[in-house]
Amino acid sequence: MSSEWLSVAEIFGEDVFNDAVMQERLPKKVYKKLKQTIEEGKELDLETADVIAHEMKEWAIEKGATHYTHWFQPLTGVTAEKHDSFISAPLPSGKVLMSFSGKELIKGEPDASSFPSGGLRATFEARGYTAWDCTSPAFVRKDAAGAILCIPTAFCSYTGEALDEKTPLLRSMEAINKESIRLLRLFGNTTSKKVTPSVGPEQEYFLVDAKKFLQRKDLIYTGRTLFGAMPPKGQELDDHYFGTIRQRVASYMKDVNEELWKLGVAAKTQHNEVAPAQHELAPIYAEANIAVDHNQIIMKTLKKVACEHGLKCLLHEKPFAGVNGSGKHNNWSITTDDGINMLDPGKTPHENVQFLLVLACILKAVDVHADLLRESAADPGNDHRLGANEAPPAIISIFLGEQLQDVVEQLLSTGEATHSLNGGKLQTGVTTLPDLTKDATDRNRTSPFAFTGNKFEFRMVGSRDSIAGSNVVLNTIVAEAFAEACDVLEKADDFDTAVHSLIKEYLTDHQRIIFNGNGYSDEWVAEAEKRGLPNIKSMVEAIPALTTDKAVELFGKFGVFTKAELESRAEIKYENYAKAINIEAKAMIDIAAKQIIPAVVKYTKELADTVLAVKEAGADASVQAEMLADISGLLTETKAALKKLEAVTEEAAGKEEGKVQSEFYHFSVVPAMEGLRTPVDELEMIVDKEVWPMPSYGDLLFEV
Ligand code: ADP
Ligand code: MG
Repeated sequence: MSSEWLSVAEIFGEDVFNDAVMQERLPKKVYKKLKQTIEEGKELDLETADVIAHEMKEWAIEKGATHYTHWFQPLTGVTAEKHDSFISAPLPSGKVLMSFSGKELIKGEPDASSFPSGGLRATFEARGYTAWDCTSPAFVRKDAAGAILCIPTAFCSYTGEALDEKTPLLRSMEAINKESIRLLRLFGNTTSKKVTPSVGPEQEYFLVDAKKFLQRKDLIYTGRTLFGAMPPKGQELDDHYFGTIRQRVASYMKDVNEELWKLGVAAKTQHNEVAPAQHELAPIYAEANIAVDHNQIIMKTLKKVACEHGLKCLLHEKPFAGVNGSGKHNNWSITTDDGINMLDPGKTPHENVQFLLVLACILKAVDVHADLLRESAADPGNDHRLGANEAPPAIISIFLGEQLQDVVEQLLSTGEATHSLNGGKLQTGVTTLPDLTKDATDRNRTSPFAFTGNKFEFRMVGSRDSIAGSNVVLNTIVAEAFAEACDVLEKADDFDTAVHSLIKEYLTDHQRIIFNGNGYSDEWVAEAEKRGLPNIKSMVEAIPALTTDKAVELFGKFGVFTKAELESRAEIKYENYAKAINIEAKAMIDIAAKQIIPAVVKYTKELADTVLAVKEAGADASVQAEMLADISGLLTETKAALKKLEAVTEEAAGKEEGKVQSEFYHFSVVPAMEGLRTPVDELEMIVDKEVWPMPSYGDLLFEV
């Protein structure tokens, strides 16, 4: 018997106010009402809320909680929280009571003026409200601040506009629910009541030693290295991927898992990733809304536990130039309340007409709205990954795999699919090993949007970003495609014929989005251009997708975003981009001027002294002199590049905020940053390691 296993089962969810706790602690009537709210969206009356709040507080206090917080995801990229203690005004006796009302549970009013609203709120009505999202369970989180009851909430303005990631996500989940049910009914399904997107995000991250981290101002201020020459050994051996996990990291992972399990996060898989010091954690998939919240918890936990182990967890998309970056693979499927996965092709997909229609709709949705999907992964950090050599390309395409590709080809050529390729047996050639049943499809690691058996995997998402944005887009664009298909099919006289020709029509019109080859190759870039697929290379070029007529119509039709909300989001993204690059540029200027140039100047003095001393001693000082000349040359280049960067950064600050300013940052400041980095990295290669003012890539990546 494994006691380890038992203890995991015991601790799992122990800090979550989950269904079991609610059933146990709430009066039957109250529990039933709450379930109706969760499952059917019925409004919760204040009296019921009071009872729930009271029980929740009692439970939290037993767990040691002193405070509660409305936990929400504003558009700044991090989870926001303001802690309120449970204490009431002191009584005449001088004592206090611990209280928590239904009103406090349901609604909060954080000072909204300091969160970005993209102009949605004029300052005179700076109010913003947080509203309890009872579909995601409350939990008690323990850290240096003590234990805090965290209540997942949505964040809206006084007039109801979304100021957060969750509100549009919930709206998009309603949209895909409604349209999926319509589609299922057409195929004779009368039993499924609800359809929810299931999401399983794989999270990549780097771990570095905290002491070394603290010697790098670039990591401290920006989360990535702004300078740094490649170590003699990079990742060319790929020996880290799935390699043995080092003990220090293993003990870190153990603690991470334990904390996550207590919080009800089903942490499942962990392994080393391709780059040295890079790792991955994947939970078991959950309903989209919960998956999004859990991913926020995962990121926070990865960082917190790292500190406890003398490590720092880097979630930046590209902490090290020339080394693999980090992303999230957003695994997505749609599932009914009675357990049908609408993306499951079954053994013989060619016969599964419903699946083929769903697939055709998704191809159409992704083709029509490729720009929106691309935008949903746009992030200043992801600009270093997408389109670069080792990451998913910035071009959206779909990988179907051999089996589905074959079915699609049959449909396209003859209008009829008569058979499905199947995987067959994988012969190991070793008699003591069993022959395994092969998947019908091999893996493809270079596609940004890949079909993987019974789900799609969107691989572009940035490692630091909330996965909410991408799922909002996925849910909504697929809802639209379903709705358009249903509009046609509900009116059809002969359903079978109509569905057949609709599938063929969609496949014919949107086949250009399918690509099963190597997405990292140059040939694909050329081919994609021929096919007319957008290749949106950067965040600032991606943002306009949010406010096209097409996007306004799509999101408006399904009540996910109003035009004003889309415009505000675009504005906030421009602002976030400009701020991020401004901080990076300023950090570079600071590091170059105060650390690198002074260190190199000192070193040239040493070298010059050496040259003189060696000459005086009558020996050959030509090597030293040559080094001195090389270093001095690079120092001159560095100084000039620094001046240039200072000038453009200053110019950027004076630009009109929004699109104009962020474009200037992207097209002028970023190249000037690269201009400064080049000579500095060359200097690092030839200057004595002892005098270099910060730990090198080698120190950071290979000495965890
Ligand atoms: P793969 O090996 O194909 O990447 P894994 O089994 O490792 O798949 O799962 C990767 C992630 O996808 C995990 O978070 C997993 O829970 C999730 N996942 C698995 N099946 C589904 C599904 N039907 N819908 C959404 N996510 C899923
Ligand atoms: Mg992976």
